[in-house]
Amino acid sequence: MVTERSYYEVLGVERNASDADIKRAFRKLAQQWHPDVNADAEAVGRFKEINEAYQVLSDPKRRQIYDVVGTAGLGDLGGAGSPFGEGFGGFGDLFDAFFAGMGGNAPGSRRGARRQAGADLRYDLRVSFDEAVRGIEKEIEFDLLDKCGTCAGTGAAPGSIPSVCTACGGRGEVRSVRQTLLGQMVNVTACTRCNGEGRVIDSPCRDCKGDGRVQQHKKLRVSIPAGIDEGHQIRLSGEGEAAPRGGPAGNLYVAVHVIPHLALRRDGTEVYYDLQLSIAQAALGTRTRIPTIEGEEELEIRPGTQPATEIRLRSRGVPHLRRPGTRGDLHVLIHVNVPTKLSKRQRQLLEELAAETGEVVLPAGFLDRVKDALD
Ligand SMILES: [Zn+2]
Ligand SMILES: [Zn+2]
Repeated sequence: MVTERSYYEVLGVERNASDADIKRAFRKLAQQWHPDVNADAEAVGRFKEINEAYQVLSDPKRRQIYDVVGTAGLGDLGGAGSPFGEGFGGFGDLFDAFFAGMGGNAPGSRRGARRQAGADLRYDLRVSFDEAVRGIEKEIEFDLLDKCGTCAGTGAAPGSIPSVCTACGGRGEVRSVRQTLLGQMVNVTACTRCNGEGRVIDSPCRDCKGDGRVQQHKKLRVSIPAGIDEGHQIRLSGEGEAAPRGGPAGNLYVAVHVIPHLALRRDGTEVYYDLQLSIAQAALGTRTRIPTIEGEEELEIRPGTQPATEIRLRSRGVPHLRRPGTRGDLHVLIHVNVPTKLSKRQRQLLEELAAETGEVVLPAGFLDRVKDALD
């Protein structure tokens, strides 16, 4: 023991503090006293003390023993110092090591046997523009390491059960104590006999050779929600690879790729169409057919429509993924094309138009002559 103060005093928390309070207090103090950031001569000792208090109070079993009989009851479990072996490593490493997995899968299991999780898988799925807009159910097929049916994923031959590892007593880890500059350190390593799993399979399943997994072909129906877009991922929890010997399965991520529409452009929920009009159509108005999500339909263009006009068809775009029943808009962007090649008759008519409004225009053949001169 480095101190006479109680572990609660060291962390500055009440005796009835919650796990979250303890974790918060530890984190704050560790940040303040970590030797990497605090040059104070006291820092090493303080950090060790804080760490020791946290090791005990963050573990419900050890905290209970400590509450009843103090450090004496903890035996070699108490006063352990750093669980990181020699040296402290980087500041970032420390916190990563400390908090990784603490909140999530198995609180308090950090010291116990660890179960390896199955790998996450990624499946790239191509859908058409229409399928992305309307939503669809797709069947996908792939090969993966899946749970062995013979042993139900345990890896043990049917009728047998895995036994507790005798090398580590089922804890999955082996401790060695060594002296360092900072005092006594306990080095914790995964048990090599059971690979940290705490259990050993004496008679392995024949089909998976004790792994609990076999290569399988899997078919899965994936429902693609209306409004999905390029680059979106659909997560299917637990549909990834199985874990060895019955651990938690990985996830399957379906990465969606949308094949673009030939005429419509999409930006999120908004859809754009570029409509080309002639000068006469824009000036006189017209009826034309445009592609929409629902198919081709007629659109009326008013006389005197200007270039760069946008006609907005409300709620004719792509459905919102998170707001069912609502859709973006279809934007029809008007482009007015000035003819570059004119027949004799067309030229004559345009010249008449210019004469009617008193505009000056170039005489016929002028540009061709300029071109010849430049060539
Ligand atoms: Zn098996
Ligand atoms: Zn073991």
